[in-house]
Amino acid sequence: MLLDDILVHNQKFVEDKEYAQYETDKFPSRKAVILTCMDARLLELLPKALNLKNGDAKMIQNAGAMLVDTSDSAMKSILVAIHALKGEEVFVIGHKDCGMHHLHGTDLLEQIGRQGGDVETYLRQSSSEDIANTWFDGFNSVEESVASSASLIANHPLLPKQVPVHALVIDPATGELTVVKNGYEKTN
Ligand SMILES: [Zn+2]
Repeated sequence: MLLDDILVHNQKFVEDKEYAQYETDKFPSRKAVILTCMDARLLELLPKALNLKNGDAKMIQNAGAMLVDTSDSAMKSILVAIHALKGEEVFVIGHKDCGMHHLHGTDLLEQIGRQGGDVETYLRQSSSEDIANTWFDGFNSVEESVASSASLIANHPLLPKQVPVHALVIDPATGELTVVKNGYEKTN
């Protein structure tokens, strides 16, 4: 069982003081706030590819590194990171071959229904059918998605104007970054 494996390892990890190499505080040393995808391939690769060590950045992860609504919990996390935790620079990092690429909310809802999810109750409890049906929607272009998320973040009334918001795409195989929007260049 995975939990048992984790707990056995964890006990030894603490006993052997393996944590010592990761000691830091809650403020990000390099003042970076990163919104990226929850993709498992990025777990170790992304920090290594960006030369980020433990304590260097605030990491916010969700499905697709997407922010489609400024009341989204990712937006709240970014604002907390900036205002309460000394973050100074935001990076939205999507990736190639993302599970949210071409994902249609209605298709996933159908699948959830087939797998025993109570879609009827979900739809009934939603504020509108439209919102309910598009809730799981992904994107058709990762570049457009990160640019749009970065733009929503940059234009949020509570985000200080001097905070740069960058949009990037990472290759989950090689770690190579492509800049979609350089936040130092204020265009909007
Ligand atoms: Zn992804």
